[in-house]
Amino acid sequence: MTTVTTAREGQVAVISFGDAPVNSLGAATRRALVAALDAAQADGAVTAIVLAGNNGLFSAGADIKEFGTPAMLASPNLHELIAVVESSGKPVVAAIEGSCLGGGLELALGCHYRVASAGAKLGLPEVKLGLLPGAGGTQRLPRLIGVENALNVILSGEPVPAPLFKGSPLLDGLAAGAALPEAIRLAAAKGTAAAGGAALPRARDARIAEPALDALLGFARNTVKAGFANYPAPLACIDAIEAAATRKFEDGLARERELFAGLMMGPVSAALRHAFFAERAAGKIADVPDSTPLRDVRLAAVIGAGTMGTGIAINFLNAGIPVFLLEVGKDALDKGVARITENYAGQVKKGRMKPADAEAKAALLRPTLSYEDIGAADIVIEAVFEELGIKEQVFGRLDAVMKPGAILATNTSTLDVDRIAAATRRPADVIGTHFFSPANVMKLLEVVRGKATAKDVLATTMKLARTLRKTAVVSGVCDGFIGNRMIEQYSRQALFMVDEGASPAEVDAAVEAFGFAMGPFRMSDLAGNDIGWHIRKRRYLEKPGMVYSRLADRLCELGRFGQKTGSGWYDYRPGDRTAYPSAVVDALITSYRAEQKITPRRLAAAEIVDRLVYALVNEAARILEEGIAQRASDIDIVYLTGYGFPVWRGGPMRYADQVGLFGVVRRMAELAQNPHGDPAFWTPAPLLARLAAEGGSFTAPGARP
Ligand code: NAD
Repeated sequence: MTTVTTAREGQVAVISFGDAPVNSLGAATRRALVAALDAAQADGAVTAIVLAGNNGLFSAGADIKEFGTPAMLASPNLHELIAVVESSGKPVVAAIEGSCLGGGLELALGCHYRVASAGAKLGLPEVKLGLLPGAGGTQRLPRLIGVENALNVILSGEPVPAPLFKGSPLLDGLAAGAALPEAIRLAAAKGTAAAGGAALPRARDARIAEPALDALLGFARNTVKAGFANYPAPLACIDAIEAAATRKFEDGLARERELFAGLMMGPVSAALRHAFFAERAAGKIADVPDSTPLRDVRLAAVIGAGTMGTGIAINFLNAGIPVFLLEVGKDALDKGVARITENYAGQVKKGRMKPADAEAKAALLRPTLSYEDIGAADIVIEAVFEELGIKEQVFGRLDAVMKPGAILATNTSTLDVDRIAAATRRPADVIGTHFFSPANVMKLLEVVRGKATAKDVLATTMKLARTLRKTAVVSGVCDGFIGNRMIEQYSRQALFMVDEGASPAEVDAAVEAFGFAMGPFRMSDLAGNDIGWHIRKRRYLEKPGMVYSRLADRLCELGRFGQKTGSGWYDYRPGDRTAYPSAVVDALITSYRAEQKITPRRLAAAEIVDRLVYALVNEAARILEEGIAQRASDIDIVYLTGYGFPVWRGGPMRYADQVGLFGVVRRMAELAQNPHGDPAFWTPAPLLARLAAEGGSFTAPGARP
């Protein structure tokens, strides 16, 4: 359904357009807008036209669902629509309310006049999807607000409050209230003037006179090269703006179009668009419709005031939800409360929060030592020690005290959520909420769906994740869930490579050059090497056939747990998080290799990257096939938001698709020739083998394993 309607206000035709929620400028809307503009043009009683969005906003831009489809280019495309507006013989005034973004702003820039309400926000966010504003935005905007301001708007991609443009030719009026009445008044006046022969101002005709052009462009280029080396879009935006300042309008437009096409076809924008859609898709659960009734979450409780419990509590406080924090002993409770208070003090000190705001948030905390206090909470999240016996005990208590309908969540990272649920008489109310450390900072939340978890419990938890500003991905129950189950294989490979001859620093450097935020050894030093040790000790008992390098165990036997002990794979100095090479670790590695009778060899960076990334991909294929993850793009979101995988590569699944699954499997067959390590490691997961053989893909639209 496309809604474009024309109403008459005296001699002004008011064309209102757009469908909820964001009035995107899809093919049908563009067609209907051109028809309405033509009709107004042909109507002798009309002297001027106002373009206004429905639904309280102008338009959030192009319909991104059309990206890469024929509909995006279907005539009239956005260029053609804007040309119809700009070449109108009757003045066209944009009445801008709410969001006016991307193609929406480009359409407004094609109008002869623009009136915005003070609450409106204008911006060109294309750079965030690895693109540039491709419908004249890079050409018209600098003509109206100057090169420097246009660079800021286009390179940041951020929406800018309309009042900041007051006084520039971008806005012909700023309305304290609604923009429409003022736009109609302006249109009526300009319509009369135009009928009398007055010329219509067009952004394309404005000239850019910027004496410091070279300096501005040079500075912008250096800044984006330093900060966004792997992203081609910011540089292309600067090139397009340069064309606006140095070429005739039509030539600049052609340059913009050429640069846009290059970005659109390139891998980075494709990856960023994949990530954008992946994040949206992650919130959808096949058998849990959006209409699933939700439970109210107005009061929360957290059990355990350690590292994770306090971080989780802060999430609730920040969202304005009062939260009980329960501990076994007063000392631990006091420490937890102090950690929360210090967090808020830090926020205030850094200027990120006003003191009164921090105080109000902290005041929502309800520390307690008694389960009797917390029974009225709508959700309780357990974050006690990682031991099944203790968790079972805690859930037994919760079962006894929590009101009917309360959601009982566990933050376990490795234990079986179904067994924890079985410690209660209400397993349908039990769910896993796997936060990442630091829990008040990290975006990712793995929501673990137990075999008995009720649909409304799942839907409510997903909604709560949004309230807490987390990106939630649903995982089934398995050891390590999605993220940690994959990272275990990645870590095994990292250690095999050190056995074979790479240094931890070489492994870290290779994968950091690939784009990971942090290599496996620096990451392990940060998280604590003892965590992996603890897990491996369990593995040696559970899966005696699984081959591990014992090097990491030797490191832990030396007490080198990482940053928290001042030494791990690297050495650390007090108050300094820099990882320094360690002679102790070098000696440890040398003696381990000798003991294993390994003659060390040099490993190329490409081999290191392939082995680490394909270790992730192969395990991910199993996770997908087992139904632990709902879709490949969910796995990408886990890695992009929780594990520092380079966003511009779109995630491990998207990366594998880009390499081509056929090539991935062939490379794995080569790697399997390596006599060191686990001979079974590189057997492709059945799903991966099948997709590779069929020429299939994990993430292409419609790909459904
Ligand atoms: P922690 O040792 O820092 O904190 C645990 C807290 O629980 C302690 O303060 C302890 O006094 C308290 N506690 C123990 N038994 C209790 C009981 N019966 N009732 C109330 N409080 C009790 O541990 P953590 O790192 O915060 O981990 C907590 C949970 O979160 C574990 O299940 C862990 O696997 C999981 N987790 C940890 C991380 C991480 O990076 N640390 C990440 C994700 C998940």
